[in-house]
Amino acid sequence: MSLKSKSAVVTGSTSGIGLAIARALAAEGADVMINGFGKPEDIEAERAGLEKEFGVKALYSGADMSKPAEIAAMIAAAEEAFGKVDILVSNAGVQYVSPVEEFPIEKWDQIIAINLSAVFHGIRAAVPGMKARKWGRIITTASAHSLTGSPFKAAYVSAKHGIAGLTKTVALELATFGVTVNCISPGYVWTPLVENQIPDTMKARGLTREQVIEDVLLHAQPTKQFVTSEQVAAMAVYLCGDAASQITGANMCIDGGWTAQ
Ligand code: NAD
Repeated sequence: MSLKSKSAVVTGSTSGIGLAIARALAAEGADVMINGFGKPEDIEAERAGLEKEFGVKALYSGADMSKPAEIAAMIAAAEEAFGKVDILVSNAGVQYVSPVEEFPIEKWDQIIAINLSAVFHGIRAAVPGMKARKWGRIITTASAHSLTGSPFKAAYVSAKHGIAGLTKTVALELATFGVTVNCISPGYVWTPLVENQIPDTMKARGLTREQVIEDVLLHAQPTKQFVTSEQVAAMAVYLCGDAASQITGANMCIDGGWTAQ
């Protein structure tokens, strides 16, 4: 499949799943705007690397997904630079693990802002252009936690369930405009987001690091293996193609069987 002549914005693409999705879209020929935090020299190396490796145009936006005005400005900048935004992958996300009664209020607000409200703000800004051109692909990175709960992840699970509902709603609104809207729901993917929650999970559950990996993370996944970022990225590429033009409003699980239980 070729995505030549398409342009994409991928939020949270300086690391993990978003980075793999940006690379996979660029590998199919799409121009990409990457976004996220990190060391400026690492981000510039990634941006320049995309251009060099795949011969596409690659830009970087440092927009903070907790700030609605910055999200709108990011989409406007991509439309200005590429002429259009055909593909929006709303992927940025953060995690915090704590018993609900101790859950810091500012962490709740931050996770709802970055993991859920940012998806709304990005969609809101990108939809007019997609509708006008009668083509678009909106992909949101939800999670197995959009379908099922886990203790100590009140904000994350709430945000991810919210993404699933938002995805369905916008899919219905855009169904006759050639714009599909789907969420991808990975199980555990070995990225910094998962690695960083291990210490807090050890504390919340009184477990060792090995016990968290085996008895909490991989316990959820019947295959007993982590999903890879590249596998998630391949699903995103598939959703962008013509073969997926009738898939909309779907919650695409890639979770080693987690939510089949
Ligand atoms: P990661 O920590 O590797 O990457 C997160 C990305 O989001 C980074 O680029 C980071 O800079 C960016 N980011 C964080 N806060 C931001 C902000 N305020 N503004 C802009 N960018 C910001 O994590 P990941 O595992 O690749 O997660 C990506 C997405 O996948 C998240 O939405 C996460 O919830 C979801 N997810 C991850 C897993 C998993 O097991 N890793 C499973 C299911 C869903």
